[in-house]
Amino acid sequence: MGKPHWKGPRLSAIGLTSFMASGACREHDPELFFPVSGEDTDKGEMEWVAAKRICEMECPVRTECLSYALDNRLMYGVWGGRSEDERRGMLRRREPARARVTT
Ligand code: SF4
Repeated sequence: MGKPHWKGPRLSAIGLTSFMASGACREHDPELFFPVSGEDTDKGEMEWVAAKRICEMECPVRTECLSYALDNRLMYGVWGGRSEDERRGMLRRREPARARVTT
C-alpha cells in the first residue's frame, strides 16, 4: 500500500479527515499529487494528468475531497481531481454566489 499524499509536511497543519482513509491516492506515489515542477512544464502536466485520472477513475471519495479542498482553501496539489488553477476558478465563481446570499 502506498503512502497517503496528505501526510507530507505541507499538510501537517490540516490533519486527517475520515474520507482520506478511503482515497485512491493511498495506493500511488504521493509526489504525483504534488508535482514539484508545476503545471506549466511537460513533466508537471503529465503528473497532473496522471493524478487527476486516478481521482476521477479510482477514487470513491472524490466529492468529499474536492469539497474539503475548497472549504479549506487548499491551493497546492491535486484534490478531488482538480488542479490548483481549476480550484481557484471554482472558488472565484463560488464567492459571488455566497456574497449574494449573505447581503
Ligand atoms: S480525490 Fe484524488 S486526491 Fe482526493 S482522496 Fe481521492 S485520489 Fe486522493
